[in-house]
Amino acid sequence: MADCNDTIEQLYAYLDRFLDDELRLEIDEHLRVCPDCQGRLEFEHTLKITIRERSREEPVGEELRQRLLDCFEIDLPDE
Ligand SMILES: [Zn+2]
Repeated sequence: MADCNDTIEQLYAYLDRFLDDELRLEIDEHLRVCPDCQGRLEFEHTLKITIRERSREEPVGEELRQRLLDCFEIDLPDE
């Protein structure tokens, strides 16, 4: 089963549906039992949508990302 690191690593591919079925199922399984990763997924999903909408009008930078992080109260792991 995928762990938190696997899930974080694959988060963007997961959101963009680039993963093969096997890996996606593993991550689904992990997300069911891990509220932390659910929160991250939700955050990245919202961020993606927000950036897509905002970028039509203005460039989006670190500031918006930080504001969203604050609003979701999520601590992203250090790279
Ligand atoms: Zn997790």
